Amino acid sequence: TRPKEPPRIHRLDESVVNRIAAGEVIQRPVSAVKELVENSIDAHSTSISVVVKDGGLKLIQVSDDGHGIRYEDLPILCERHTTSKLSTFEDLQSIKSMGFRGEALASMTYVGHVTVTTITKGQLHGYRVTYRDGVMEHEPKACAAVKGTQIMVENLFYNMIARRKTLQNSADDYSKIVDLLSRFAVHHIHVGFSCRKHGASRADVHTVATSSRLDAIRSVYGVSVARSLIKIENSDNNPSSSVFKMDGFISDSNYVAKKITMVLFINDRLVECTALKRAIEIVYAATLPKASKPFVYISVVLPPEHVDVNVHPTKREVSLLNQEVIIEKIQSVVESKLRNSNEARTFQEQK
Ligand code: ADP
Ligand code: MG
Repeated sequence: TRPKEPPRIHRLDESVVNRIAAGEVIQRPVSAVKELVENSIDAHSTSISVVVKDGGLKLIQVSDDGHGIRYEDLPILCERHTTSKLSTFEDLQSIKSMGFRGEALASMTYVGHVTVTTITKGQLHGYRVTYRDGVMEHEPKACAAVKGTQIMVENLFYNMIARRKTLQNSADDYSKIVDLLSRFAVHHIHVGFSCRKHGASRADVHTVATSSRLDAIRSVYGVSVARSLIKIENSDNNPSSSVFKMDGFISDSNYVAKKITMVLFINDRLVECTALKRAIEIVYAATLPKASKPFVYISVVLPPEHVDVNVHPTKREVSLLNQEVIIEKIQSVVESKLRNSNEARTFQEQK
């Protein structure tokens, strides 16, 4: 038989390209919540509340009291690659905001229905406008508004049947959202967070802005966790190594759990680092075998040139320069703290 003719190559429709790309940025409801909450933090909010219906498929609503969005910017707000946070590629080197690629809101409009309500300082009223596929559906309408921005995403993945189906069968999206907000609340203590299901009177995460990390951990993870924590701190200004600062809280021998909880922020970005997690588990297994699944909150600050932030938004695993050195350093700080607290305890018991 004769070989078949090769299939023709053609250019995809822009709407198809955009929807596929958007589906990658916004993989699940929790990815949309993360992007929206990060935008609220970038807007210097002190209070952020999240309401979720049907695990986020029906509704995700994030309200903040940040600086708001200018009326003139509303027409391009949800276009792809429009941002107030980055101008040149070099800016990436020193960027402090979590967002910079101007992709998140646009993506949401390609896979859901987005409504923005916002007011800026000194204005008598706000504006409300809805977006579809990157564009405003109508002129912004004047409306009452208090302070800041509220973004509503409805019917997420309405045009991606398969995605919607697989997500409908998984009941855990709301708990992923609660977990995300819990982590943010522990790190961004100057912001009050709340998260609840639509129609519920009780919030599942509820914190007020505070200056005490321990208070924040207590209100998110509970008294018994907060009671069994040890503070860790280390800074290393040795010019031969990278300038490095870390601080956090780790659980002591009183904390017993089925699995490790590790809340890790590097340069204020919520990240995962499997290698560090393993390294800490090893220290606990060796030092406190009975409490070998710890609670760990660590915030690490590294020179920006040591962290590559230019990774895909869905990639939470971070890439660091000198990763082994940093992990060893953290490991040794954790180990010496654990040993000290354990010795103090044994000594107490012997008295
Ligand atoms: P990025 O965060 O990467 O800039 P986004 O698509 O998430 O891109 O947001 C686009 C722009 O919209 C932001 O740069 C910011 O100027 C504005 N914006 C989004 N959300 C908010 C908010 N909650 N408060 C104020 N401005 C916002
Ligand atoms: Mg953003």
